Amino acid sequence: MRRRLVSLLSAVLLAITGSVTVGVLAPATAAADGCFTWNRTLQQGASGADVTQLQIRVAGWVASGESLSLDGQYGPATANAVRRFQAGYGLGADGIAGPQTFNKIYELQDDDCTPIHFAYGEFDDNCGANNFNGGRVSAATARENIRRIMWQLEAMRHKLGDRALVITSGFRSVSCNSSVGGSSTSLHMSGQGVDLGLSSAPSQCQMWNAGKSAGFEELLGPGYPGHNDHVHVGNKSSQSWSAPNC
Ligand SMILES: [Zn+2]
Repeated sequence: MRRRLVSLLSAVLLAITGSVTVGVLAPATAAADGCFTWNRTLQQGASGADVTQLQIRVAGWVASGESLSLDGQYGPATANAVRRFQAGYGLGADGIAGPQTFNKIYELQDDDCTPIHFAYGEFDDNCGANNFNGGRVSAATARENIRRIMWQLEAMRHKLGDRALVITSGFRSVSCNSSVGGSSTSLHMSGQGVDLGLSSAPSQCQMWNAGKSAGFEELLGPGYPGHNDHVHVGNKSSQSWSAPNC
């Protein structure tokens, strides 16, 4: 073992001092991307920024009515969300985030840390401004809030049979929100609310129901005033779900 380590180190040193360095220093366990690399296995009891990054990716895999707190503490709720994520993608479901789980996440994410089926450009229309400016929070915060929603939506679309979800409204500045008749307390102004439009599938009520186990506290659908042509999903601290026609 030690011999192998020594010869590996010499090879690396040779590579550094020589001209060919590319490749040799790449991690043997592959597949991190330009976004974030987990360097250790995470399980209950762990804490840190890498736990928060994991929590963002599995926040859409909660039980109905639950919302995962992104607090960097790997407790039972995080373990259960990881377990559901693993089962959802056909991995061994042990609630421990190791190489298989991380490799699946790397597979699911783009270099800008968004999930592969969603992009910032779908959420930043902002009445034609194409940015995250002018809301109730800084543009950087709004963008990060939107990224978190994207991961919840990535889980939701997978659970709905890998059907595309159509974003009809994402972030809105305060003035954009009032010009489209949004509520004065609308979560769209902080990047914490998103509207999903209708398509051939999934149905409006299927989307509304799926939102319950994707961590959304605000869920408004058919029968709720102004929501007969979309489903509104949002993150906040208290639960308000309404879709009288579902
Ligand atoms: Zn909305």
